[in-house]
Amino acid sequence: MRNKQVSRRDFLRRSAAAAAGAGVVVSGIGDGCGWAQQKANIPKRVLGRTGLKVTELSFGGTRLDDRAVLNYAIDRGINFIQVGPGYYRGRAFPEYCAIMKQRRDEVVFGIKLHPDEERLDDALEQLGMKYVDMLVPGVHSVEEIGSAELKEGLLRMKQKGKTKWVGFAVHKNEPDVLAKAVEMEYLDVVLLAYNPGNRGQLDPIVEKMEKIGMGFIAMKTLKGVPLEEHETATKSILNNPKVDTLIRGFTTKEQVDQHIEWTLTRTAGVTPADERRVAAKMAGVACTMCGNCGICPRNVAVTDIFRFEYYAQDGQLDVARDEYARLADCERATNCDDCGLCEEVCSNALPIRRRLKEVHTLLA
Ligand code: SF4
Ligand code: SF4
Repeated sequence: MRNKQVSRRDFLRRSAAAAAGAGVVVSGIGDGCGWAQQKANIPKRVLGRTGLKVTELSFGGTRLDDRAVLNYAIDRGINFIQVGPGYYRGRAFPEYCAIMKQRRDEVVFGIKLHPDEERLDDALEQLGMKYVDMLVPGVHSVEEIGSAELKEGLLRMKQKGKTKWVGFAVHKNEPDVLAKAVEMEYLDVVLLAYNPGNRGQLDPIVEKMEKIGMGFIAMKTLKGVPLEEHETATKSILNNPKVDTLIRGFTTKEQVDQHIEWTLTRTAGVTPADERRVAAKMAGVACTMCGNCGICPRNVAVTDIFRFEYYAQDGQLDVARDEYARLADCERATNCDDCGLCEEVCSNALPIRRRLKEVHTLLA
């Protein structure tokens, strides 16, 4: 089975072989505790017009319980880190701050925050930084991405030297929000939920992003992907030259190692037939975050609920339950009255009503 958890011994053997096969250099450091901290020569790509050279694999995500995992990822060569002060109800940020105070010079650092100067100053102080490399608020509507207020706020933070570059993160209504963002022209980077289930829908706009030099950070790349296809899906996204870096949340060193191994061997063993198989498994199963179900007359937060389900599938059941609990009563699955309108417009023909009930049982 392809996706089995690697043992330390397996990892050492396989990563050495992988590195040799990929023509990369791996040097042993050793942490004296039996866990080899080998610096992997992860290839870098240029992040759009920013000109920043970032490793193909980067580190972000909502949850981080153990700062040693972040330290380990940097030791292994990952050089792009992104976090939001609110992730994991604020519990992850202090872990990132502790490491960044020591290792700022080794990484490109992005923060998910709206351009509120007071909050950004507070985050910078906690991080021990004078500036971040990129400021990326979460933006999920055409109105917000097109607003003069957002543009003025982001450019002001850039002008004041508190961020080098500006962009946004989106995981809802993606095609429409992206199209508007490209039109706005001033946004340097995007964190985009991008996976085998929705890439077909997004690739035309991704072409346009590339033309204007917008850096592309692919997130939520395993959303809706069956466990046995995680390796193929990850390699397939990495093999897309339009993706500048793939960002993942890691909670263990084993996960870091597993993904580095997949990155170093990304060109091996993934054929167009493999990609078609993964896409076929996701048809009618995975939410593509198109946002069409936003028409719900009862305001049920369908896309968000399926995003929380992904957190649970990704081993973060507590985060998923936290997020679900924060929804307003009208947004929860229990407010659905079975009208069926969302299913008529769903781009992936999901049985939304049945799935909402299942997710509610899991997260309530
Ligand atoms: S079936 Fe439920 S979730 Fe879908 S549109 Fe109707 S009320 Fe909203
Ligand atoms: S319409 Fe379907 S695919 Fe699109 S966001 Fe809603 S549930 Fe997901």
